[in-house]
Amino acid sequence: MAASTQPDVMDKLVSLCKRRGFIFQSSEIYGGTGSVWDYGPLGVELKKNLKDAWWRSMVRMRDDVVGLDAAILMHPRTWEASGHVAGFTDPLVDCKTCKGRFRADKLDDARCLQKPSKRPGEAEQCQLTEPRSFNLMFKTFMGPVEESASTVYLRPETAQGIFVNFLNVQQSTRQKVPFGIAQIGKAFRNEITPGNFIFRTREFEQMEMQFFVEPGKDMEWFEYWKAERMQWHQSLGLASDRLHYHQHEGSELAHYARAAFDIEFDFGGTLGFQEIEGIHNRGDFDLGRHQEYSSKKLEYFDQPNNKRYLPYVIETSVGADRSTLAALVNAYREEEVPGEDEGRTVLALKPVLAPVKAAVFALTKKDGMPEMAKKIAGDLRLHFPVDYDETGSIGKRYRRQDEVGTPFCITVDGESVNDGTVTVRDRDTLKQDRIAATALRDYLNERLGG
Ligand code: ATP
Repeated sequence: MAASTQPDVMDKLVSLCKRRGFIFQSSEIYGGTGSVWDYGPLGVELKKNLKDAWWRSMVRMRDDVVGLDAAILMHPRTWEASGHVAGFTDPLVDCKTCKGRFRADKLDDARCLQKPSKRPGEAEQCQLTEPRSFNLMFKTFMGPVEESASTVYLRPETAQGIFVNFLNVQQSTRQKVPFGIAQIGKAFRNEITPGNFIFRTREFEQMEMQFFVEPGKDMEWFEYWKAERMQWHQSLGLASDRLHYHQHEGSELAHYARAAFDIEFDFGGTLGFQEIEGIHNRGDFDLGRHQEYSSKKLEYFDQPNNKRYLPYVIETSVGADRSTLAALVNAYREEEVPGEDEGRTVLALKPVLAPVKAAVFALTKKDGMPEMAKKIAGDLRLHFPVDYDETGSIGKRYRRQDEVGTPFCITVDGESVNDGTVTVRDRDTLKQDRIAATALRDYLNERLGG
């Protein structure tokens, strides 16, 4: 783990997320479910904006990538072929004294349950067992009989839904190699040491794309996607100095991978640089294994050259929740406001990610101001997510919107009712423009795109 020079804002963010309705602990009234989180009204918009941005750049804007939405439950043979039944394990150690369970390969990051909390194994009373393999897949049963023949798994990654549909998609869309299949969906992993808010959870969403290429052209495409994906994170506003590549080498490189890089983001504090996305050259491992286990030919027929082959796969795999956390951490600021005693907390989210794009205020609740403000909010709502607020001082209303990342606040005052103009305040520069209410839609359109 690389050390970070960025501040640790995680505790403040967790509290803001709960207070303002971004993210709640799952089943909180029952004491919470371990490392599962619910997205509240603002959180669901934020995560949806992030997923939409991914879908737009990976599918809509390209003619060589198509979409898919495969089921979570798959034939159990899938997971034998993929290697997950045999090998999707983490080394687990138990402590006989404190009953804690830890990942043997992450002991340095773990804390023993005894107080004062130390690295497991460090205190005199610690009694760690030998590591044993723990499979991370959640098991359940399909149909009414609970027996091993009806065991199914909650998918631990979305990728396999793409591999098993390779020929269905290729033949129905008449795509030619090179082309890709993208999907967004839930994945489940029974992580031993989840934590750090939505960074590592047991239920999460992945945005994965498998790009099928001719063997021999794979490294070229690997480099292409590596650059493309870094650029995407930057385009959403993640600071360049908080992003870097981490190359998998030696034992870190999965046995089937021909090359692998992670994109890491600096989450600040002790968490520091951590993976948010993996870019992998998986060769023909996956299609080869599914061909073997299903006894169905999965070869691609290259008509112009009259040859058949199993394509190689370049995979890009990014967590929607982990990226949402990166966006929040990256955007969180506490600032002084010139000319004011009280500072402000602001989420400087890129407008494309902001859950609410504009808030409309009536300066006071009289003289026709609320009516005009409500009318403006109603008109704008046809085009953008808009909030209407008439309670508290204007300063307080600005603070509330800054804290959830709303890029623009529109105020209707006494003058507005007479001349049809309003003030628009920019979240980042704090500058105010006075414009005609009828020009608001174009004004916002111009500024919300980037
Ligand atoms: P890690 O080493 O952090 O466990 P991984 O290498 O197992 O991750 P991949 O299998 O490559 O991760 O998954 C691709 C992406 O899915 C990760 O980069 C991450 O963004 C996301 N992801 C994986 N596991 C989790 C999890 N438990 N909670 C949230 N997101 C996850």
